Amino acid sequence: MTDLNLSDPALLRGQAYIDGKWVDAASGETFTVDNPANGEVLAEVAYCGEAETKTAIDAANAAQPAWAAKTPKERAKLLRDLFNIMMANQQDLARILTLEQGKPLTEAAGEIAYGANYIEWFAEEAKRIHGEVLAPPTGDKRVVVIRQPVGVAALITPWNFPNAMLTRKIAPALAAGCTVVCKPASETPLSALAIAELCDRVGIPTGVVNIVCGNTRAIGGELTSSPIVKKLSFTGSTGVGKMLTEQCSGTLKRLSMELGGNAPFIIFEDADLDLAIKGVMASKFRNAGQTCVCTNRILVHENVKDAFVEKLLAATNKLTVGNGLDEGVDLGPLVSVKARKTVEEFVEDAVSKGAKVHEGPSTPNGECYSRPLVLTDATKEMRVFSEEIFGPVAPVFSFSTDEEAIAMANDTEFGLASYFYSNNVARCWKTAEALEYGMVGINEGIISNEMAPFGGVKESGQGREGSHHGLDDYLEVKSLTFGGLS
Ligand code: NAP
Repeated sequence: MTDLNLSDPALLRGQAYIDGKWVDAASGETFTVDNPANGEVLAEVAYCGEAETKTAIDAANAAQPAWAAKTPKERAKLLRDLFNIMMANQQDLARILTLEQGKPLTEAAGEIAYGANYIEWFAEEAKRIHGEVLAPPTGDKRVVVIRQPVGVAALITPWNFPNAMLTRKIAPALAAGCTVVCKPASETPLSALAIAELCDRVGIPTGVVNIVCGNTRAIGGELTSSPIVKKLSFTGSTGVGKMLTEQCSGTLKRLSMELGGNAPFIIFEDADLDLAIKGVMASKFRNAGQTCVCTNRILVHENVKDAFVEKLLAATNKLTVGNGLDEGVDLGPLVSVKARKTVEEFVEDAVSKGAKVHEGPSTPNGECYSRPLVLTDATKEMRVFSEEIFGPVAPVFSFSTDEEAIAMANDTEFGLASYFYSNNVARCWKTAEALEYGMVGINEGIISNEMAPFGGVKESGQGREGSHHGLDDYLEVKSLTFGGLS
């Protein structure tokens, strides 16, 4: 293992975590995890496949009855301990995250706190898994509803929030009484393995949390086809989400799908432009534009477009791009060379169709850095209108009426996050109701926290994470009808 300069070097793990043990792949094979800021190898990680995944599923299955039989308070206590130990190790966890993913260290520390908040929240919610007593259908019957854990859950997560996307799933699953087999993204497995180390330290019982990385298709194939696995919760691209949904159809698993987005950011004529700039900078450039809720299309009323663009260019030029470990950096590198090339293709396409490029601050040398930029004169024919950019590119479109803005915003198969700015109460209500999205930011660019339901409609997915709704995805509803009471 490379020395990552951690206060607690034992947080860096390269083996799979199965049934409470750290194990190598049966083949002995490993894969490398690289630092996108400079290409350096950070670690070798066990390259697991079908056999190791099967073992992990069996371990989760064996552990599930005893875990579900614990009192909610006992499960809550362990989750609370996990929250505490995660926050106690916030700086090390943030460092691992920045090194493998690229985001600035302060942003990474923010992600650790954000991820830990889900654990704290569901530690509390574990004690509020209530049933119901229904009105009797006939005089001699009584009907009661109880909610029980789904069983073994498979959790597959992406690289853009290597910590929080996993805690947002592990926490409600464990609170509900499920056990889990997790497969983190191959670019960023180290943050997930560090979470397993902390689960181990606080005494979460053997087999309750398992983590395997390696052969993506083999692991995914086993997780989606095993009849033991009762649920799949997936966060990632819409294409992979659809494929995994198909793979799960043979065993009809419960599904939660947190998929891609194409967020519109509407600035009405009456908007507070300075507030809108603050919101758009946060929602566009956070994580170098690599979040599913990132602004993808800026839609500005034609009467305020010039004033808005001037402010946007000034704010973009103030950004600092660099190695996420350096002080004062706003944007790190993109996660991979492939990601950078994809963003360049979006810009080339827009320019070939008439967009004007306003380049922002320069970047250091390094193959994964992508220069922040604004595209004006953007049109619906460009790929930036219909596809998720996932990079620091801000295309500006214009509109002349509310109806046009809402139609443009909804003109996509995605429906995850959306944002708009207006000071008119009636316009705010009407627009919020008309937007076909799971989440709407109204005069606000940061919409995600553990108390609010997170999720999309249309091809952005199904199910909700966070809030009290987040438990529903891991619980079955059972009715008990008592007869003979006359
Ligand atoms: P991705 O390519 O879909 O990968 C996501 C996860 O799926 C990774 O762990 C990946 O593993 C795994 N995977 C890929 N093919 C698989 C297969 N055949 N079987 C099993 N697992 C498979 O997405 P990404 O590029 O990492 O993430 C970016 C996407 O995630 C964007 O579209 C973004 O909008 C979306 N996202 C959505 C949310 C949300 O809450 N809605 C949050 C964050 C991100 P490997 O890494 O090993 O390929």
